[in-house]
Amino acid sequence: MAILVTGGAGYIGSHMVKELLDREEDVIVLDNFQQGHEAAVLGGKLFVGDIRDTSILNKIFENHAIEAVIHFAASALVGESMVNPSKYYSNNLYGTLCLLDAMHQYGVKKIVFSSTAATYGEPVKVPIQETDATIPTNAYGETKLAVEKMLRWYDTAHDIKYIALRYFNASGAHESGLIGEDHEPETHLIPIVLQVALGQRSKIDIYGDDYPTKDGTCIRDYLHVSDLVDAHILALEKLRTGGESKIYNLGNGKGYSVKEIIETARIVTGHQIPAEIKERRNGDPAVLIASSDKIKSELNWTPIRTKLEQIIESAWKWHLNHPMGYRKE
Ligand code: UDP
Repeated sequence: MAILVTGGAGYIGSHMVKELLDREEDVIVLDNFQQGHEAAVLGGKLFVGDIRDTSILNKIFENHAIEAVIHFAASALVGESMVNPSKYYSNNLYGTLCLLDAMHQYGVKKIVFSSTAATYGEPVKVPIQETDATIPTNAYGETKLAVEKMLRWYDTAHDIKYIALRYFNASGAHESGLIGEDHEPETHLIPIVLQVALGQRSKIDIYGDDYPTKDGTCIRDYLHVSDLVDAHILALEKLRTGGESKIYNLGNGKGYSVKEIIETARIVTGHQIPAEIKERRNGDPAVLIASSDKIKSELNWTPIRTKLEQIIESAWKWHLNHPMGYRKE
């Protein structure tokens, strides 16, 4: 039987597909290439289309025995979600509704869902635990939380078991250097810093240095994408052996400030990476750090690429090999 990976041509999805292929799983990828890249899909059977298109879902489920779905396909830009919530409700919530209805129709009972720390909003405390309040401060987080709730009712009604993984800051790139992070537009700190090191940008803007943190810049929990993918494998195995529906945080458990990221990138790249302090970015909490104790104890997950140097080195390897990302190759 096959694993369907929606959004399998995107940053995290493509790393998932590679890992499944390395494990000799049968992989079907569905991606609409809104953010994904054909060159990021290193194998499996690729369908180009949208999760809201029931005809392509029917085609996939009718012609392939799908054992489980790993669902990444979504819009994921916080700022965009604030000016265009419709896109997020349509792609993330309605899209997942279409996918779940197709799963129900074809009797597929397992799903691993790509959720986010944005479901929490401003944290009441750090490290954040799964039992903490979920009060999203942006439409993106709201739609992901709505999907988590929808999953619960599809489990109750149709016995579809899910594991929702709330990602903190996914970062780094595959050790092979073959796949990595390539967004258009790029808004994430580490790839932007490395674009400065490549000479593609003149400087990095630091969004605020007056936060109540040790150096005044925001602290985030950066988790290597391959550690993140490993957690999906454990989640899949758990569902395969009859595991119940669950929600888990996925983070490194360590916080790094924006200045620490830039400093480490200077060491890794040997480039001076000029930085300039700018205004705070709207909606940025000062500190986001995950407690991942629950997934560690219940699924035996152990992140192994936890050093910041390691994470940035892996991203740098990708950027050096692919200075223009996937597009101009
Ligand atoms: N950040 C920054 N300059 C940039 C991009 C990001 O100072 O050009 C900061 C941002 O304010 C946040 C951290 O870097 O505190 C991580 O931002 P990113 O967008 O990578 O991830 P987020 O935490 O928003 O999911």
